[in-house]
Amino acid sequence: MLPEFHRRPGWALAIGCLALLLGAQEEKHLTVYMPRNSFTVAVRDRDKGEYVSLLDVVQPLGAATAKQDGDKWKLRFGGEESQFQAGKNKVKIRGKNMEMSAPVVIENGVALVPVHGLAQILPRLLNSAVDFREPARRLIVGGAATDFSAELQANPSRLVLHFSKPVNPSIASEPGRVRMTFTKDPVIAAAAVQNFGDKLITSASFAEHNGAAELTIAATAPLLAMFTDDNRTITLAAAPQAPIAAQPHPPASPAPGQQPPTSATAPAKQATALAPVAPRPRFLVVIDPAHGGDDRGALLAAGVEEKELTLALARRLRAALERSGVSSILLRDGDTAISLDQRAISANTARATVFVSVHAGNLGRGVRVYTARLADTTLKPGAMLPWETAQASYLEESSALSGSIAAELSKREIQHAEAPAQLRPLSHVTSAAVAIEFLPGKDGIASLAAAPYQQDLCAAVAAGIVAARNTLEVRK
Ligand SMILES: [Zn+2]
Repeated sequence: MLPEFHRRPGWALAIGCLALLLGAQEEKHLTVYMPRNSFTVAVRDRDKGEYVSLLDVVQPLGAATAKQDGDKWKLRFGGEESQFQAGKNKVKIRGKNMEMSAPVVIENGVALVPVHGLAQILPRLLNSAVDFREPARRLIVGGAATDFSAELQANPSRLVLHFSKPVNPSIASEPGRVRMTFTKDPVIAAAAVQNFGDKLITSASFAEHNGAAELTIAATAPLLAMFTDDNRTITLAAAPQAPIAAQPHPPASPAPGQQPPTSATAPAKQATALAPVAPRPRFLVVIDPAHGGDDRGALLAAGVEEKELTLALARRLRAALERSGVSSILLRDGDTAISLDQRAISANTARATVFVSVHAGNLGRGVRVYTARLADTTLKPGAMLPWETAQASYLEESSALSGSIAAELSKREIQHAEAPAQLRPLSHVTSAAVAIEFLPGKDGIASLAAAPYQQDLCAAVAAGIVAARNTLEVRK
């Protein structure tokens, strides 16, 4: 079942995130990581270097109050007072005099301290160990760092990344590489570069910059990222390729340089250092059985959980597509929890041609087909795809797909409706994308759990996807 709020237009939600995302491209940041959360503080350029508001840094860490008294600024934090004076390098932190490399600046009651000075004053102020990775402007408080290991496994090649704590990177897939950006996770690495000497996955390199860490995996073919172990493990393996024999319609090859970025994160840099890999002709359907794990979805009837029905329906859809020679993968083939973002990330990394999210409901009859309704954006088209509206360039394909599925449902006289909905993860997916809500037949909810009815619906949806194939491949 689709959460009700998804069906209403929701401007405020999306615009808030968009503003953050835009800011991330423009500003210098300092990220502070604590054992349970992290936050970002704006870095301001002043005559004597880079500064931050000290109150911005300490307020999320504990009760803090400040007051200005002439050119003096007093901070009460941790039960003790610290003193700062405009134009002076010398500061008094909880009774101890310390000297910073540049003077305090006071502007409109706000005390700015040099970023460089944080390494000196924070351990005393917070009474805690602080790992300040200054060039990257990442400040890790109280041993909050997340480390990881990268292990290459052979036959078939896959890279298994184990993290000491759950992580939630954004992932961008580019020709020749996959980039994972960790903005909220205090990920650190023991080595900057690891070479694997593998034909598929050649290296992993780690870099930190502007309050974020980036892990770049170089590969000779598109990779698919899968999250397991409550987001502690990310496995990268070759994205499934359709066998050439199953390609009755060879797609138009994309013009050089026209490969769209498949995820929405940082501006897509051109991967000039690595030879771009020509994508093999393929038509890949990524099927997303909604819900899973602790997220049970709706309780459709006594003992009938939506998460079980979505998986059963997704498997039938995969089987129906297979019969038409179309490759597909399931984002989960068991009772596992996957976040909405990760569903989109996995689909984008796999360079899906079609993304189908599968839901089940008990209100109404037949099938509902949803396409994404996106918040309006004033962004000019450019290299960057905002995550919240990543679907924007694919809406036309998505409605063509929706129409094609609806046409097949009509042919089979299956009751159905098409509607746009504010719906994650559709809004983050960079391919034709629909959500299908499977509803009972005339015999009520029991029919939805019954094999023959499920098969009829899935056969119709698969036929709709296959019928849309020519249109989608030409545009891809
Ligand atoms: Zn649902």
